Amino acid sequence: TPRYVSGIRPTGEIHLGNYLGAVRRWRSLEGVFFVADLHGLGGAVQETAESLSRCGVQNVVVESDHKADILELYHQLSFLTPTVLLGRMTQFKDKSASEMATLSLFAYPVLMAADIFYFGGTHIPVGSDQMQHIEFARDLWDVLRARGSTSFEKPEAVIGDSPRIMSLTDATRKMSKSDPDEMSRINVSDPPDVIRQKVRAAKTSMSMADDTPEANNLRTIYRAVGGTRVHERWPTFKAELVDLLIVELAA
Ligand code: ATP
Ligand code: MG
Repeated sequence: TPRYVSGIRPTGEIHLGNYLGAVRRWRSLEGVFFVADLHGLGGAVQETAESLSRCGVQNVVVESDHKADILELYHQLSFLTPTVLLGRMTQFKDKSASEMATLSLFAYPVLMAADIFYFGGTHIPVGSDQMQHIEFARDLWDVLRARGSTSFEKPEAVIGDSPRIMSLTDATRKMSKSDPDEMSRINVSDPPDVIRQKVRAAKTSMSMADDTPEANNLRTIYRAVGGTRVHERWPTFKAELVDLLIVELAA
């Protein structure tokens, strides 16, 4: 039987990208969903765990409650990890351009692989930005297997048609907790008037017919929360989008 394992960094707030890309699907799955607090120093661990529970996720676990075991596995995996594989990760390349490139940022996929193996994940429901890291975990599993030393199951990504949600202020970047601009993201705990304010301020294209990243992102969000209508103008589109978001996030 499949065992679903996935995690989220402890930034307290869960944003619409996390929710539509991953967390929404976790609610109905059998497995372990953890607050990935070993993937950083400090963080809002309890708040994030509570947000997950409030989103309806069962079996929420705190990664650092298993600290010694996970770090030991990470340490062992580090001896088997070719650094060329890590250098290829697009998230490392993207993030290291804007943040200080640390060893932990570079090695993050190894810790993520340790999480997956430790919690016994066979199916990993993540957003599409994590696809490459799951591929990395599979490559690492092959290395373990070649050494004849694994009792773990080979994990696979479960992405399905889960959308990639972009920033509301710059649709060329994904919606992210790391973005300092609060207006770039909607949090699942935002009250209705804040959701309205953020959607109204979201960058749009000139015409409803435009095929721009901003227009496409708003359409993606609209469809993901059940929108089906054709609107002639952005203001009416946005008004319905706000209504749909309020209903979805209140559920
Ligand atoms: P950070 O920028 O600090 O990495 P994040 O916003 O990417 O934060 P994570 O905790 O890394 O959040 O990701 C949790 C889950 O949400 C992962 O499965 C990830 O794939 C998914 N996810 C994150 N951002 C998006 C997005 N913009 N669209 C769809 N899924 C996303
Ligand atoms: Mg991330």
